[in-house]
Amino acid sequence: MSQSHLMNTYARQPVAFVRGEGPYLWDEEGKRYLDAVAGVAVNTLGHGHPGLVKAIADQAANLIHSSNLYRVKRQEELADRLCELSGMDRAFFCNSGCEANEAAIKLARMYGHSKDVANPTIVVMEKAFHGRTMATLTATGSRKIQAGFEPLLSGFARVPFNDIAAIRQVASTNREVVAVLVELVQGEGGVNIVSPEFMRELRQICDEFGLLLMLDEVQTGIARTGTWFAFQHSGVMPDVMALAKGLGAGVPIGACLARGVAAEVFKPGNHGSTFGGNPLACAAALATLDAVEKQSLLENAEKVGNYIRQVLKEKMTGVTGVMDIRGQGLMVGIELDRPCADLVAKMRDRGFLINVTADKVIRLVPPLIFTEAHADELLGPLAEEIVAFLEG
Ligand SMILES: *Cc1c(COP(=O)(O)O)cnc(C)c1O
Repeated sequence: MSQSHLMNTYARQPVAFVRGEGPYLWDEEGKRYLDAVAGVAVNTLGHGHPGLVKAIADQAANLIHSSNLYRVKRQEELADRLCELSGMDRAFFCNSGCEANEAAIKLARMYGHSKDVANPTIVVMEKAFHGRTMATLTATGSRKIQAGFEPLLSGFARVPFNDIAAIRQVASTNREVVAVLVELVQGEGGVNIVSPEFMRELRQICDEFGLLLMLDEVQTGIARTGTWFAFQHSGVMPDVMALAKGLGAGVPIGACLARGVAAEVFKPGNHGSTFGGNPLACAAALATLDAVEKQSLLENAEKVGNYIRQVLKEKMTGVTGVMDIRGQGLMVGIELDRPCADLVAKMRDRGFLINVTADKVIRLVPPLIFTEAHADELLGPLAEEIVAFLEG
């Protein structure tokens, strides 16, 4: 076997996993790893979760796919559950995060045209990550991701992250602005968190100017930050919300939820997806939501996330080169003063999977079943490697 017939889109690490159980993965040689990446915030329930496995197997034996030409009962059930948990009104199902954002972007444009805005414009943030399709990479605030794919789309206006004054400025001067798209905790951008006042003021601005408040909760959604959705920390409701990563706990599924006028924008024929919301994917998502409830994973994410940050802060006191330790729930960022991608291999050699994003930020997004004992297992070696790296 080789990688020569794979398109060269990833600089892959030289390891292949063959089995997983709980927060552990095993490679081909039988070496065990503690997984603090969780398939990039995807494996909500860890690996080999019996309830999830059974739900997938049962659904597969019964019906994997029908079509959105027909009613899909599991999809209706999942939409009911997500709307009940979030307070949103309607869901559109797709297969990934970029597709969930793509639906949000199309929805915002159609909403704009319904108000006779000729060139509907969406306000997006610096350092944002919204995906790799043409619309979502245009919305993404990273030249590295956009370079080589010009022409980009029109209809986006960029402002600095967490800068409510900049949003007000654009909203009050550009009559074509119809929506604001934002991550409440930027994942790929380096675990950057908006301030508590941000959501409230953003809601005010959106109400004042008739804009849709659209949240990309692809990474923060489904209990990751200690609440079902990150917006619930503020209690301020969005008009549109994109979900994906953790929703199916590893089975590909995305969702675009909408509320109020935004929920009534799409009519038959406006948008679609062949696979979106098929019975198999919805069964996985329903089983994920069940397990999050049954295993109290909201509480666990908050508790273990706080524990990780507290232990790290203790271990890193007085270590020069550690700029910040931050996060929300089981999204943890450790910002160093220099690029630190080398730490990934160092930790992998010792049997731990971590991630580095935005060059200088160690990102921990373990499965939500992570315990304080798992955290202890990880944090000793991680602290040692960070210190050695900074001193080296
Ligand atoms: C991962 C991610 C996406 C893209 O999701 P894909 O499933 O890779 O298309 C979009 N937005 C955010 C915030 C993400 O973390």
